[in-house]
Amino acid sequence: MPCDGLFVFIGASPNTAFLRDTAALDRKGFVLTGDAMRAYWDSDRMPYYLETSCPGIFAAGDCRAGSVKRVASSVGEGSMAITFIHRYLAL
Ligand SMILES: Cc1cc2nc3c(=O)[nH]c(=O)nc-3n(C[C@H](O)[C@H](O)[C@H](O)COP(=O)(O)OP(=O)(O)OC[C@H]3O[C@@H](n4cnc5c(N)ncnc54)[C@H](O)[C@@H]3O)c2cc1C
Repeated sequence: MPCDGLFVFIGASPNTAFLRDTAALDRKGFVLTGDAMRAYWDSDRMPYYLETSCPGIFAAGDCRAGSVKRVASSVGEGSMAITFIHRYLAL
């Protein structure tokens, strides 16, 4: 197939090693949030959708396990995380 260029995208590796002792990650290093991290959740209340296993710490965008990996969704999750932070601070 004739073409002028080639775009190679073979995957992504999240830079989350610094979180290993703080929040639960999946086996590829993506940050588990909400229902996906319930096995690690140790609080009486339900976690917020973007909350990590560390209460009050939220993850948004590509580093989050199960996220859509698109610009618009990452920006949207960022704004959602701000809302959840406000709710967390009001607890
Ligand atoms: C080649 C390519 C093409 C793409 N094309 C499209 C497209 O056409 N449309 C689309 O919707 N999406 C596209 N995407 C996906 C899109 O770029 C991502 O979904 C989006 O950028 C994710 O935003 P984010 O803020 O979650 O992460 P990022 O944009 O990756 O931002 C994370 C930031 O955190 C910084 N960082 C990392 N570690 C640390 C640290 N320890 N301390 C401080 N800062 C740190 C990084 O330097 C980076 O600036 C593309 C991605 C790639 C790689």
